[in-house]
Parts: sequence; C-alpha cells; structure tokens
Amino acid sequence: MSTLEKGGPALPQERKVVTSIPGPKSLELEARRGKAVPAGVGASFPAYVVAAGGGIIKDIDGNQIIDLGSGIAVTTVGNSNPRVVQRAKDQLDAFTHTCAMVNPYESYIEVAEALNRLTPGDHDKRSVLLNSGAEAVENAVKIARSYTKRDAVVVFDHAYHGRTNLTMAMTAKAKPYKTGFGPFAGEVYRAPMSYPFRDNFAANTKVSGEEAAARVIAMIDNQIGGENVAAIVIEPIQGEGGFIVPAEGFLLALVEYAHANGIVFVADEVQAGFARTGKMFACEWEGIVPDLITTAKGIAGGLPLSAVTGRAEIMDAVPGGGLGGTYGGNPTACAAALGAIESYEQDGLADRALELGELIVKRLEKMQASHPELGELRGRGAMQAVEFVKAGTMEPNAELADKLAAYAAERGVLVLVTGTFHSVIRFLPPLSISDALINDAFDVLEAGLDEILGK
Ligand SMILES: *Cc1c(COP(=O)(O)O)cnc(C)c1O
Repeated sequence: MSTLEKGGPALPQERKVVTSIPGPKSLELEARRGKAVPAGVGASFPAYVVAAGGGIIKDIDGNQIIDLGSGIAVTTVGNSNPRVVQRAKDQLDAFTHTCAMVNPYESYIEVAEALNRLTPGDHDKRSVLLNSGAEAVENAVKIARSYTKRDAVVVFDHAYHGRTNLTMAMTAKAKPYKTGFGPFAGEVYRAPMSYPFRDNFAANTKVSGEEAAARVIAMIDNQIGGENVAAIVIEPIQGEGGFIVPAEGFLLALVEYAHANGIVFVADEVQAGFARTGKMFACEWEGIVPDLITTAKGIAGGLPLSAVTGRAEIMDAVPGGGLGGTYGGNPTACAAALGAIESYEQDGLADRALELGELIVKRLEKMQASHPELGELRGRGAMQAVEFVKAGTMEPNAELADKLAAYAAERGVLVLVTGTFHSVIRFLPPLSISDALINDAFDVLEAGLDEILGK
C-alpha cells in the first residue's frame, strides 16, 4: 500500500468518480455481506472503504468520495488524525487491555480530567468511561436514579438515545429503532420538544422557548409529578431527530425547573459535543450547565469510547462496583481520546467548525432562494441541516431528500438523510475538510436539486 492510500492527510483531497457508485468490487462485497451479516444491519452508502482522511473517503473501486457525514459525527478531528494515530499506536505497543476495574492506568484518569475541565461549569466533577453512546446514556440514568432515589425519566419527541433496551424506550422513532423489539423499559415519559419550524409555521404564531418549556413542565406536573422524576434527558441539539435546535430559553427554563424540583438535568451531547457546533459543547450556546453530560461519537477520533461527566456529589452517589464494564475506558481508546482532545484544543477546530458552518449556510441559502422545498435551514457550526417540505407547506418531503442523496452518492458526495419524517439532510463534515471540497460537494447538490425539481 502506498503512503497515499493510508488515509490521513496524505490522501489526495479531490473527488474522483471512476466507476458507478457502488462499483463492481463494492457490489461483490455487498453480495458477500448479505450471506455473512444479518439483514438488520443496514448500510446507507455501500461503497467499501480502503482509506479515509481530510474530507475524502476512498473506496475499493478507486472512487474518492467527499465525506459530509464523518461516520455519523465521529471523525470530527478527521479520519486517521495524526495525533490520534500516534498515541493509539504507542499504546498498542505498550499494552492492549488490563481492565480499568482491575489494573487501572493513567490515561483513563487523564481523559476523565480533560472531560471534567472541558465540560460546562467549574464545579467539582467526575467522569466514568464506557464504550458507546447508548451505554453512556444508560449509565447517566443509573446515576441519576441512584442519586435521587426516584424512577421516572423524561425524554422528548424526536429524541435519539440509542438501541439498547433502556435507550430504545428513550428513543422516539418506532421504525426502524423500536418496532418489534418490545417490551420496553418502564418509567420513561415523553414530552413535547421545542421545534421552532413546526411550532411557528402558522401565520402570526411564535412559541417562545419559555412557552415551549411550559408545555413540558405542565406535562410533567400533570402526568408524572416533578417529585417522582429522577432525570430530564435531552439532546441540546437533536441529532437523528433532524438537527432540531430548540427555541432560545427552552433549555434554560428546563434546567431551572429541574433544579427547583430536585431533578438531575442530563444533556446528551453524544452527537453535538466536541467542537461540532463551534463550541466545545452545544450547551454552551444556551449558557446552561447540565448536572450530567453524556459524550461519545467525537470523543476519540473513531475509536469506541464514551463517558458520563457530572457533578461530583451526583456521580459519587453510586456505591463502589456499581459502574463500569469490561472494556470501559479501553487503553487504546483513551490514548486516541487524548490525541483527539489535543487536536480540538491545539488545531483551533471549534473556530474551523464555525467557518465551515458559514460556508455551508451560504450555499444552502442560495439553493433555498430558488427552491421553496427547502423549508428550513438550521443548525450550529458544522452541524447544519435542511428540512425538505412540499413547497409552501410543512408537509415532509422524504422523497426529495432521498432523491437528492442518491443523486449526490452517484457523483461521489456522501450526505446523510435523517429526521423523524426522513425529510432532513444533515451536513456534518470532518473539520479537516477543505473549503474547496465543501464547494465542490455543494455544486453537486445544487445541480441535483435543479435537475430533480426543474430550475
Ligand atoms: C448516536 C447517539 C447515541 C447512541 O450512541 P451509540 O454509540 O450508537 O450507542 C445516543 N445519543 C445521541 C444523541 C446520539 O446521537
């Protein structure tokens, strides 16, 4: 393998389409996959990867695809980021596993210290390391229940918190995440989300953040009783739900209600965290300080790691042995996280997220000017989305989102379709991508829209 094919910054930063996508070698692997892997494991862009870095994914047929998905918000620091790779390699040479619950090691503490320092609020904090986003959310609920000695958990419309049994109950969307997988965990209650595009669609309607929070509080008071609630769990910007940014003041009003009622406020920053939105954590945009924060995706540049970080007195409520797991805080994942965190801080990635966001919004606004099907543009930093509708209505337009994503895929541009109504395209490029690649990708998307809708 030549150095150019190893990924990282050495991969040529240009889009190249040399076969149909997926090409013949990818199709062969797809056929093999169908015989070896269960049908329930989907692949939305089945071009098989041999290398990735900067803003490019190279497939087995030699195509070079522009990456606007970052492996679902994971490779925010770029694929094979040199700081991540070097530290992970050094760790692999030293030892691969001892189990942090048996023989601990320093890097686990260093990651915890970094999370305690970087997350909002200067109170005393603790962090526990785990493997996946869902595992972090499960543990946040365990910790909140242990601390409050209450059962109920409040979650929101359009929420996504994972695929394990408890987090399936917390996730909103039935298909494909829940249908057929019940019964679900109990004591999970769903509240109405602040969704400005839909809340404010009717003429002369404006639901403020405080009013949207009042709907939630009324629901809790009437249906659960605040004194029974262990935790309110919310994504500060919803991810799979469609990059829904709540109205200003919504989150703050919920934090205040939680604190007045002895409820633990949990921000699920698994998707929005780590410089993605232009700040280290999305909560900072609203000036809120959550009691607990769950992180994963962007934390370790692609290695599996997650965490719950929070107030020391809450985190320490669980007795010894109550938290953990065989692989939680795996040494290679910890080394990778230290490299990724160093990259966020030393490489100015939050600022880069803001620049990329401005460029993306500029390109989307141009498309929106000639196509009213772009119902709403929303997001922060390099976490941007467009919700497609039937022109002039708020009726979801999933068909258009799918057609545009397919048009882009054929031409070597990877975008992800998401949202409760499958009508949102989200843009979450690695922060290592160049402006030139963003512009090339949006030239493709713009041409695609004109072709699908007619100019
Ligand atoms: C992806 C995601 C999860 C689940 O993370 P996994 O690592 O897939 O278990 C939880 N919460 C949010 C907000 C997510 O985006």
